[in-house]
Order: sequence, then structure tokens, then C-alpha cells
Amino acid sequence: MEKAKRTEISTLGEFGLIDKLTQHIQLKNTSSVKGVGDDAAIIQPATTQVITTDILVEGIHFDLVYTPLKHLGYKSVIVNLSDVYAMNATPKQILVSIAISNRFSVEAIEEIYEGIQLACTKYNVDLIGGDTTASPKGLVINVVAIGEQEKSKIVTRNTAKEGDLLCVTGDLGGAYMGLTVLQREKQVFLNAPDASIELAGNDYIVGRQLKPEARKDIIEFFAEENIIPTSMIDISDGLSSEILHLCKQSNVGCQLNEDGVPIANETYDKALEFGIDPINCALSGGEDYELLFTILPSDKNKVNAHPDISIIGEMLDENLGVKLFTKGGNYHDIISLGWNSLKDEA
Ligand code: ADP
Ligand code: MG
Repeated sequence: MEKAKRTEISTLGEFGLIDKLTQHIQLKNTSSVKGVGDDAAIIQPATTQVITTDILVEGIHFDLVYTPLKHLGYKSVIVNLSDVYAMNATPKQILVSIAISNRFSVEAIEEIYEGIQLACTKYNVDLIGGDTTASPKGLVINVVAIGEQEKSKIVTRNTAKEGDLLCVTGDLGGAYMGLTVLQREKQVFLNAPDASIELAGNDYIVGRQLKPEARKDIIEFFAEENIIPTSMIDISDGLSSEILHLCKQSNVGCQLNEDGVPIANETYDKALEFGIDPINCALSGGEDYELLFTILPSDKNKVNAHPDISIIGEMLDENLGVKLFTKGGNYHDIISLGWNSLKDEA
């Protein structure tokens, strides 16, 4: 929601705006040598770096009808940090580039940056630069994230082996059901602008969609317990799509056990209300930003002791394919369904 006060960006100009957005930044990480203010930032990493970027486009990746600007800023950072954690690395720096139309006020951009800075503080990351430009229409946010890890501990998607156990953090499908509720309420609002938006009782799933977190805690757990996953990916597009990525790149098959897949009660109930099979929310619903990884069988006890990690399957010989073993005792091929496919079912 925009604040009552509205300052046009033209009154500050590009440099004035950048100053306003970045004036309070204090660098926290020793590898961040110089941040905003010069032609380029300077970083001096102690070890190997990973680097990633994600772009968010208004109308494609977010809808400002139901996305608060502060949440949008926060999420634009989180989706990038999640990719760094998925390499078993620790994010240290981000760069943020924005393209903004004159629809947006200085106050609106400040709200986005409040969310960005909140994520930086929470995840101990430095905002070291970016770019600012005008856009004819709409808002675009691009974030680059840079992380560090010893080379031998970086985890990729292509190193799972037959016999490894498949694990996932948190619970799945919530962000998709949150989006479904938000889209329904938007439609109600468009049909009858006087109707009030009804989100009560959906706090958990709406929160999963609007303010996701990245699994910093899990990477710290791996370090404490001396676990190096044999492969890892973060769940941005849905469990089936991510399992297929691991299997394809590692040349292995997989059995996923339906009864192991963690789904929160609120997600489960809301899926039934919308006529969707809850397991399909987990398989095809995106944006949960949980970690999917494989471990050596010898690490099973360590992982089992963690309250927020579920063992959901096992990697197999490639010739056995990629299968879902259902609660009813049947096997189904896992195919990659974009989360859009869920809409046809609803
Ligand atoms: P240049 O013209 O050399 O590209 P800019 O005027 O774009 O320089 O940027 C000046 C400084 O401000 C740079 O250090 C740049 O990284 C930083 N910066 C520009 N836009 C942003 C932004 N949206 N968020 C954070 N830092 C920014
Ligand atoms: Mg520039």
C-alpha cells in the first residue's frame, strides 16, 4: 500500500534517488571492500565464489494488486539467496538493479528498499551496488547474489548416486495455495471493488507466497554436522521438476514416496477446498524455496534428527526411471508439470 505522501522521482533525479536509497548502508562482511559509490564495487573473497541472478518483472512474476512493495523487495533478495544456499554456499553480497516508471513515487521505491535491506540484515548480506533506470511502464527488479564456500564443499545438481537418500526441508505446496487464494481474492475485488479482501485463516499459505525465507539454517546445520549433500537444488518450480533436474544431471533414477512428502495442514485443507489433490500442490506448485538434496545413506541418522528435514525417497539406477510411489501402493512416472498445469485441474 502506498503511503499518503508522494514525491515524484523527477524531483530527486537518478543520483538523488540512489543516494536516498543507499545512504545508510554499512558493509558487514570482510570480503566487501567497497560498496555503492564508485564505478564498480570491490570484493576480496577468502575462498571460491558462486554467483547467481534472477529477474522479477511486474505482470509476469508479481502482481502489485496483492503484493506489498516491502514484501516484493524482500522476496527479490530471498529468491537469489536461495540459489546460493542451494550450492551449499553462504551469500555475502548482492547488487540490485531496478527499472521504474513514473507511476512509482520515491516513497514507493523506498518501501521496496526497506524490504531489500531487511533481507540483507537478516541474512548478513551486503548491498554493494546496482543500477537505476527509467522504464516506460511497470517495474523490473534484478538482483545478483554472490556467495562463498570452500571449493570442495560446493554442491551441484549432477553428483547424486544410486542408493543416496532424497531429502527435502520444510513443507511444500504452501506458496502455490497462497497464490491461488490471492488470485481468487483479486478476482472478487475486480468484480466488486467494494467487497473486502478476505485473507483470514490463510495466514500461513499467503505468507509462504508473499514472504518466503531462504534456508540459511540448513546450510549451517550441514556445516555443524559435517554433512556434504551429494547433490542439491532449491525448489522454485515444484518438486517434480526439481527431482527431474537432479536425476537428469546425475544420470540416476528415483523413487519418491508420497507418504513422506511434507504438506502443511493449511495447504492440505485449502487444496481440497479448491478441488486439487494436495500432492499435486507439492509436485507442481512453485516458489516454496525449500532445499531438495541427496545424502549418503551413512548420514541418515544425522538428518533424521533434524525436525525440519524429511527423507522422501531414494535414488535408483537410471534404467528404473523416476517414479512416485503413491499412498495407494501404485507407481506413477514423475513428469515435469509447470505449476500452470494445476490451474486446469482447479
Ligand atoms: P554508472 O553511471 O557508472 O553506471 P551509476 O550512477 O549507475 O553509475 O551508479 C552509481 C553508484 O550507485 C554505483 O556504485 C552503483 O553500483 C550504485 N547504484 C546505482 N543504482 C543502484 C541501486 N538501484 N541500488 C544500489 N546501488 C545502486
Ligand atoms: Mg549505472
